[in-house]
Amino acid sequence: MSKQRDFVLRTIEERGVKFVRLWFTDVAGTLKSVALAPAEVEGAFAEGLGFDGSAIEGMTRAYESDLLAVPDPSTFQLLPWRSETEPTARMFCDLSTPNGEPAAADPRNVLRRALARAAERGFTYYTHPEIEFYLLKSAEFGAEGPVPVDRAGYFDNVPGGTAHDFRRASVNMLEDLGISVEFSHHEGGPGQNEIDLRYADALTTADNIMTFRTVVKEVAISQGVYATFMPKPLAGQPGSGMHTHLSLFEGDTNAFYDPGAKYQLSQTGRRFVAGLLRHAPEFTAVTNQYINSYKRLWGGDEAPSYVSWGHLNRSALVRVPLYKPGKGGSARVEYRAMDSAANPYLAFSVMLAAGLKGIEEEYELPPEAEHSMGDLSDGERRAMGFDPLPTSLDHALALMQRSELVAETLGDQVFSYLIREKSQEVAAYRQQVTPYELNSMLGTI
Ligand code: GLU
Ligand code: MG
Ligand code: MG
Repeated sequence: MSKQRDFVLRTIEERGVKFVRLWFTDVAGTLKSVALAPAEVEGAFAEGLGFDGSAIEGMTRAYESDLLAVPDPSTFQLLPWRSETEPTARMFCDLSTPNGEPAAADPRNVLRRALARAAERGFTYYTHPEIEFYLLKSAEFGAEGPVPVDRAGYFDNVPGGTAHDFRRASVNMLEDLGISVEFSHHEGGPGQNEIDLRYADALTTADNIMTFRTVVKEVAISQGVYATFMPKPLAGQPGSGMHTHLSLFEGDTNAFYDPGAKYQLSQTGRRFVAGLLRHAPEFTAVTNQYINSYKRLWGGDEAPSYVSWGHLNRSALVRVPLYKPGKGGSARVEYRAMDSAANPYLAFSVMLAAGLKGIEEEYELPPEAEHSMGDLSDGERRAMGFDPLPTSLDHALALMQRSELVAETLGDQVFSYLIREKSQEVAAYRQQVTPYELNSMLGTI
């Protein structure tokens, strides 16, 4: 019995834990949970907990439906929102087949595989997300559309408003769960907020994002409001992005840092960014997986629409941020397309694979974008080599379908599931005749 497992079993006993929730994520990025009686935990560590994988989105083919959830003891935490009456804890799980093979469609396993490839080259991968979301009065809405909880904007202090209390309650709860928060503030849209998590290794960050979404939803319920991570819930207002800062370390050394280089971005860092840029169009269906995601990417409001990089340029797809002199350890690059509804395990995997490809193949970093993309004409953008990101989910899927990099990184099963599932989403959307079409055409044509 490992020390960590021992610690979990002892804590369950000492704290009188009544339920242990086993968490895992399906291919679509939805958190799944099964509650275990404390007496069953030791057995789950030893043998895993069996479940019918064919009932979970994208998990198995029907003929190999049995899967095991094996709890990862390093993720054990008491859940603050159940702590008084019925102490409840949770652990994330790795999924395996009955003969002990990692389950092909477990997003955590996809990321573990990508991390192992980075480790073969001596790299560890760190990420830090800025997560935006909207607070609405309710999930129900009438003809006027969803109603946000306030009318405030970027960095506004909202006296007596929901947003402030809301962020404080969420941040406290996250800290109770061992998740450090760096910043939180009101974002640009009415009712829109952002909470930034401190950087951690990518697997921990992906787990933290799943926990984060649950915490924010729980706090919203307790405050009588509704939280949504939908990429573009309000037409004409900014969407909710999940800008993610990425870095590679070799041992204790930040591989993106070179004090003598422009923006202190090392050759490894430049090649990583070149990899992100070259492969972004083919992995966008993973970082931006919904029809609605493309309304954010192409709706203006600081979401990137074109492949470019820059330093202070907020219209760029990849930004090389400023950091304080002497803080080389915090060298990183910010990928700005990903949205708050992405599956973080899969999105981190494809971004890593693209960056590593850039390093391996020694891609050349194209020139920096010095203009705001919106100030350039189509012709100028073309001449400067700023290609568009996919304009729709349909377009993104067509590009992903031809991508060896994405197929290899996600593995056959996840790759074909996503193509199939997302193509159905596109087909269903095509059946719609929208109010926009009726309003703009019916009276005139
Ligand atoms: N909400 C914007 C987006 O959709 C980002 C705003 C910001 O720069 O934080 O990406
Ligand atoms: Mg923001
Ligand atoms: Mg940002």
